[in-house]
Amino acid sequence: MPTPLPTATRTIQRLDDHTVGKIAAGEVVERPASVVKELLENALDAGADRVTVELASGGRELIQVTDDGAGIPADELPTAIERHTTSKLQRFNDLANLHSYGFRGEALASIAAVSDLQIISRTPESSHGAKIRIRHGSAGSPEPVAAAPGTTISVRDLFTNVPARRKFLRRDSTEAAHVQRTVTACALASPSVRFTLINDGKTVLTTDGSGDLGNTMVGILGADIAAQMVPIVSSPDLDDDDPERPRITVDGYIGLPTVTRGNRQQMYVTVNRRWIDHRPLGFAIEQAYHSLIMAGRFPVVVLDITVPPERVDVNVHPTKREVRFSDERLVFKVLQRAVRETLMVYAADQPVPQVTHSPMSRETAQRRMSLANPARVPFSRNEDRTNHLRPPEPPAGPASDTEPPAPHERESGQSTSDIPVLRVLGQVGGNYIIAEGPDGMYLIDQHAAHERVLYERLLAQYHSGNLDQQTMLDAVIVELTPEQQATLDACRDDVLGLGFRIDDFGGGSVAVRAIPAVMRGKDVAETLSRILDEIAAGGRGDSVVDSLVISAACHSSIRSGQTLTLPEMRELIVQLERCSSPRACGHGRPTMLLMSQEDLAREFERR
Ligand code: ADP
Ligand code: MG
Repeated sequence: MPTPLPTATRTIQRLDDHTVGKIAAGEVVERPASVVKELLENALDAGADRVTVELASGGRELIQVTDDGAGIPADELPTAIERHTTSKLQRFNDLANLHSYGFRGEALASIAAVSDLQIISRTPESSHGAKIRIRHGSAGSPEPVAAAPGTTISVRDLFTNVPARRKFLRRDSTEAAHVQRTVTACALASPSVRFTLINDGKTVLTTDGSGDLGNTMVGILGADIAAQMVPIVSSPDLDDDDPERPRITVDGYIGLPTVTRGNRQQMYVTVNRRWIDHRPLGFAIEQAYHSLIMAGRFPVVVLDITVPPERVDVNVHPTKREVRFSDERLVFKVLQRAVRETLMVYAADQPVPQVTHSPMSRETAQRRMSLANPARVPFSRNEDRTNHLRPPEPPAGPASDTEPPAPHERESGQSTSDIPVLRVLGQVGGNYIIAEGPDGMYLIDQHAAHERVLYERLLAQYHSGNLDQQTMLDAVIVELTPEQQATLDACRDDVLGLGFRIDDFGGGSVAVRAIPAVMRGKDVAETLSRILDEIAAGGRGDSVVDSLVISAACHSSIRSGQTLTLPEMRELIVQLERCSSPRACGHGRPTMLLMSQEDLAREFERR
């Protein structure tokens, strides 16, 4: 609790302009990314075709945005940096029909209050440019300079006069990542503008400005991801004949369930091309993906929602990142439906990414009966309730030699690739797959089962050297604890043998350039850290390699609690069936339990 000041010093005083400026700036300028957002919006409002953002030391040292837009006349430069001066709005009512990003006339003044700001600008009519410099709110006079038409705004020493704020800045790489996301969002919302982002002298992002969102996505998200994005299918709006109903449309691309992320960072949503933060809209999208991607994973989307300007209030917060809709529920519904319907068209039968489909061979199909010897559930009477789960019994011998193929497979005599002998019936509690086999009812632990599949696949790859590797588009920088670093040093060859490609990055970090393909879609940093922690703690296998494979399989597999679709479950069963020891996961837990026909009959007192 702050202690109250002595009464004598508590007279009410007007704050001086500098203090007012710094306080107000706090609302608009939180970090380098917020500066970049405001400068980009100004460039776009000025009609730029080309915008270049340059960053040094995560923006702490320099943020510079250059555009080829309309420019600011020399005599207006001092006005532009004053608070509440704008060329974009005359009356409050104009807000209802806004066609610019800016309207509050606050950004330049706010940035100027907390940095060393320089503007060089030239209008196309003028023969030369003009320059003005404002240090922490104190403006110099404009001076003539040679300049190309357009505007270059340079921001140096951000927050050096607001130590409290500067202290909150994160590492340069983190701030640069926020900036990159901001530039990405703006570029995706303006495909006809050429964007370039240069970080510490290195170009990290470019778009071609062709006006084609598909091309822009390739430039930004990479060809791999862009190839798995599909355009929103516009479907006839059933309630559309109501003339009172505002017209709300959704455009853009959404990722197939095969591309997911561990966070919401790649969900880009704009409203009338304005990049916004709106949890309910994100939620509408996530709901549309429900049961198609794993819990805790998030889709990649690039969507623009068009709402009549008078139906959305953008003047909610100084950063303009929040909006309020007059018809929020309707917007939510239209968005969710657009995404869901698109998914139904393109992705109805896609399996989850980790479970890749490949047809089952005849030989495998015949071996399927080897599944028929899993842990049995001793469904005896109440007196034995404490002893329900027994460890799986080891198979009597090579099952395929001793056991006949399943009868109906023999009868049909055709490829069984899509018809597993275990008929999947559904899922229980988001954890267990319930299936019917020739001899009774099976409960399969989805996590343990998938872990077994990945364990065997990884181990086989390790021993054959035939790695299924996923190269990262951008290296993932992972910060390791000293202990993790030491563990990695000790078993580096084995880690690389699994398909990782890892370089030292300095400062206790490593750059992960490739991962085992089974880890695709997982949070690389988190998975690698966990694997190293488990090895450091002694590992769970009988050799370092075995332990590594166990950990990697465990952290790459489907989680418990994840809703699966029928095709996903079938695919998992097919893959489990191909394992040489399908009954237990890498840790030795059973993957499946069987309640036999006899058990069922006895439990229901049929005999
Ligand atoms: P707002 O964008 O809300 O109008 P700003 O403080 O961001 O307020 O900018 C103030 C004014 O400065 C703008 O209205 C515009 O006239 C001018 N301005 C700022 N940046 C640029 C730019 N890159 N090109 C042309 N004019 C600009
Ligand atoms: Mg502005």
